[in-house]
Amino acid sequence: MSWVKEYIRTIPDHPIPGIMFRDVTTIFESDVAYPKMIDELVSQYRDKGINKIAGIEARGFILGGAMAHMLGIGFITIRKKGKLPYDTHSEEYELEYGKDALEIHVDAINEGDNILIVDDLIATGGTAIAALNLINKAGGKVTDACFIVDLPELKGSTTLRNKGCAVFTLAEYKGL
Ligand code: AMP
Repeated sequence: MSWVKEYIRTIPDHPIPGIMFRDVTTIFESDVAYPKMIDELVSQYRDKGINKIAGIEARGFILGGAMAHMLGIGFITIRKKGKLPYDTHSEEYELEYGKDALEIHVDAINEGDNILIVDDLIATGGTAIAALNLINKAGGKVTDACFIVDLPELKGSTTLRNKGCAVFTLAEYKGL
């Protein structure tokens, strides 16, 4: 078992019955686990030619910002609809529970940038694939994505890999 699972709190039936919510704020709050996790994620991406990290609101910011600092590269914010102040590209996506849209600033990416997508968890992959589509619209290429948690039965990580994006995760859970 990955050491990181010891720091993840599971909340049954949140936000709706049947969902096991994997709460990673308990990692962020730990002065042992948070820096160790950032080090472990960053070690995957040294010398890989990644130009920028794209973090997905909001937990992807907490991971991706620290990683970008350590890698000495810039950080792109992928935000929920209506939050970004300048012109945006927008992409609708299905959540495990509900529907939403993500946005990116039209000028966030330089042509040919190699982008690493960062978020806390991948389930169906709807969120990450919306982020990938946005980055492609803005002229960037997504080479890699990383998450703390994978729910492999929901097949998002497989879908992302089938789109040519390498996926790294620290922990897996069965089921929803
Ligand atoms: P998906 O788009 O289905 O891959 O869902 C991933 C997004 O929804 C991530 O941003 C997660 O924060 C959130 N999410 C989905 N399922 C869970 C879960 N079981 N526990 C915690 N967060 C989840």
